[in-house]
Amino acid sequence: MPTIDDLSVRLTDHLDLDEIKRVRRAYFYAEQAHDGQRRKSGEPYVTHPLAVASVLAEMKMDRDCLIAAMLHDVIEDTEIDYQGITDQFGKTVAQVVDGVSKLTHLEFESKAEAQAENFQKMVLAMAEDIRVIIVKLADRLHNMRTLGAMRPDKQRRIAKETLDIYAPIAARLGMRDVQVELEDLAFKSYYPMRAKYIRRSVVKARGQRKDIITDIQDAIKHRLEQENMPGKVTGREKHLYSIYNKMKSENRSFASIMDVFAFRIVTWSVDDCYRILGAVHNLFKPVPGRFKDYIAIPKANGYQSLHTDLFGARNITIEVQIRTEAMDAVASQGVAEHSHYKSGGDGKLSEGSYNRARKWLQGLLEMQQAAGDSMEFIDSVKKDLFPDEVYVFTPKGRILELPRGATPVDFAYAVHTDVGNSCISCRVDRHLAPLSEPLKTGQTVEIITTPRAQPNMAWLSFVVTGKARTSIRHYLKNQQQDESVELGRRLLNQYLAQYETTIEQVDHEQLQSLLVELGFKTLDELLEDIGMGNRMAYVVARCLRPLKGNDEAVFDAADAKVDGKPIAIRGVEGMVMHFARCCHPIPGDSIVGNISAGRGLVVHRSRCRNLNSKRDESTRSIYIEWSDTGDEEYSVVLELQVESQRGIIAQLAMAVSALGANVKQLVSGERDGQLNAVTIELSVTNRVHLARVMKKLRAIRQVNRVTRS
Ligand code: MN
Repeated sequence: MPTIDDLSVRLTDHLDLDEIKRVRRAYFYAEQAHDGQRRKSGEPYVTHPLAVASVLAEMKMDRDCLIAAMLHDVIEDTEIDYQGITDQFGKTVAQVVDGVSKLTHLEFESKAEAQAENFQKMVLAMAEDIRVIIVKLADRLHNMRTLGAMRPDKQRRIAKETLDIYAPIAARLGMRDVQVELEDLAFKSYYPMRAKYIRRSVVKARGQRKDIITDIQDAIKHRLEQENMPGKVTGREKHLYSIYNKMKSENRSFASIMDVFAFRIVTWSVDDCYRILGAVHNLFKPVPGRFKDYIAIPKANGYQSLHTDLFGARNITIEVQIRTEAMDAVASQGVAEHSHYKSGGDGKLSEGSYNRARKWLQGLLEMQQAAGDSMEFIDSVKKDLFPDEVYVFTPKGRILELPRGATPVDFAYAVHTDVGNSCISCRVDRHLAPLSEPLKTGQTVEIITTPRAQPNMAWLSFVVTGKARTSIRHYLKNQQQDESVELGRRLLNQYLAQYETTIEQVDHEQLQSLLVELGFKTLDELLEDIGMGNRMAYVVARCLRPLKGNDEAVFDAADAKVDGKPIAIRGVEGMVMHFARCCHPIPGDSIVGNISAGRGLVVHRSRCRNLNSKRDESTRSIYIEWSDTGDEEYSVVLELQVESQRGIIAQLAMAVSALGANVKQLVSGERDGQLNAVTIELSVTNRVHLARVMKKLRAIRQVNRVTRS
C-alpha cells in the first residue's frame, strides 16, 4: 500500500517542491474530509483518492490534476462543497472535482448498445476540462482494480459500464495503457469463464510460440544491425479482451488469431521509420493491401505509426508496427501524454487543460501540414473531442442527440412529430422551463402535451433542427388550409340558405362546370379561396343557386344576407379566424365578422369604432354569432378609476382571481390627485362571467368606476 510519502518522492520527477507541498496538503485535506469512512475492502477511504492520484502521477499529470484526484470524491461523499474547495485550492481544481462528481451521477442504465456511443460522446461533452475525463478514468481504473470487494451484481454492472463506456473513451483519447487494463479487468469480471479459457489457451500457446518469436525477432534485429539502423525490437502479445473481441466480431478461431505474431520497432526519427520499413519488407514478403501509413495520416486521437503485415514461414503472419519514441509515448498515453502540451520555457503547468488540449490539436495540425494533408482531419479530431451536439435524456432514459442550441421544441419533434405538434410546455430536470430555452448535455427533458394544442408560429424563430422547422411549417399550412375550407363552406352555405339549399345538395354538374370555369380542381380549393377572403361567397352562391325552369333568381343574394342565418363561430382562434385586439369580443357580445382578402376573418364587437373606418373595397362584413362555447378563455380589458391607497392593486387582483378570471396584465396609469387610472387585462369565459367580475370590482369601496374599454 503506497503512502503519501511514496507519492511525494515519485512526484519530484516532474513537479517542484512547492507544487508537491500543495498536493500533500490536498491529501491531508481529503483524509480529514473522509475521516471515519471506509472502502468496501475495509481500508480507510483516503487510500482510494491516493491511489487515483498515484495512477495520474505515473502519467506525469500536472499539479491541479493531482490535487483534483485527491479531492475527487469530496463533494460527492462529504459535507464539503464546491465553494469550500474553491477557497482552499482555487477554481480550476474545484471545477475538475465538480465535473467528476457530475459524471458519477450519470448512471448508464439502458442496455441498448446503440446508446453506448452517444453516452461516450455525452461524457466527453460534459467535461469542458479534459482533466475531468482523465481523473474519472483513473478513478474507474482503481475501482476496477479493487472490484472484488463489491457485491457480485454491482461488480457486473460496473464491469459492463466499463466495457461499454469508459474503455472506449480511453481508446478515443488514445490512452491505450488505460484502455487495455480497463478492458482486461472488466472482461475477467463480466465473463469470468471466457476470460479463464482464453487465458489458459494463451499460456499453452506461449510455449510453442516462444521459439518462433525469438527467431523472427533475431532476424529483424540482425537485419537492422547490418543496415546500421537504430531500433528496439519487441514482441507484442494481444491482451485477452482484444483476442475475445476478434474471435467474436471477426468470427475467427483462437488458433487463427494465435497464428499472428506481432512486433514493434521503436526508433529515433521519422526518416528511420521509413528506412526500417524498407528493410523489413526486404526481409519478409509484405501482405498486399495491409500497409498503413499512420505517420502521414495520424488517427483521430493522434496515434502515429507505420503498420505492415508480412508473410512468415509455416503459414504465419507477422504484424509489424514501426514508430519513433515520441509516437510510442502517445500511443500508450494519448491525450494524457504531457510532452504534447508542455507550456513555454518556465516549466509551469498551470494553464487550463482545455487550452492544453487545444495545443495538442494544434500540434496535430502542424504534423498534418508537414505531411501535406488536410483540414478535414483536424475537424474530425475536434468533433471527436468537443462535440457540437448536446445529449439529453427522455424521462425513460433514452438518449437523444441534438445539435447545439436545440430547444425543448426540437426535442419534442425529435421524439415524434405528434409530440411536437401537441406540446404545450416542458420540464427540464423536473422544473418547468420555457420551450425556447437551449438544452444542455445531461439534462432530462419531459414534454407536456395536450390533444388540443397546436404548433405556434413563433416557434419557427428559435427551433434549430430541420425536422422541427419542416413539421411546424407543414402543420401550419395544413391547418390554415383546413380552417379556410371549413370557413369557406360555412360562408357559402350561409348564402346558399337563401335558395334553400346547401353546398352538399347543389346540382353536381352545375358545381363541376363552375369549378372548371374558375380553374379549381376540387371543391375544397374553391372553399379555401372563399375562406381566405379571396372570393366572395355570395357571388359563388348565386352561380350555384338551383335553376327552376326558366325562373331566374329574383333577388340579389347580397341583399339577402340580412335575412340569412348568421354563421356560428366557435370560440377558438385559429389561422383564419382572429378576435380583434381593438374591442376584445367575448361570448355574449353582439359581433360582426370582417373578411378581407388573404387575411381571413376578424371578429369585432358590433359596437367597435374600428369597424367603420376599416371598411374598404377589399373588406366585407359578415353576419356572425356565437355558437356554443365551452370553457375557453377570452381576453378583455377593463378600465378602472380607483382611490389611491396602499394595497389597492393587490385587492383588485384578488377580487378578479377570486372569480376564476386570470389577470394577464395590470397597469397602474396616470394619477390625478387622489385618483388612479388602472387598466386590467383579464381572461373570462363569457359576458356573464365578465359581469360578475365587474360587479365584484365595483363592490370595492375605493373603486369609483369600472368600464370595459
Ligand atoms: Mn472515486
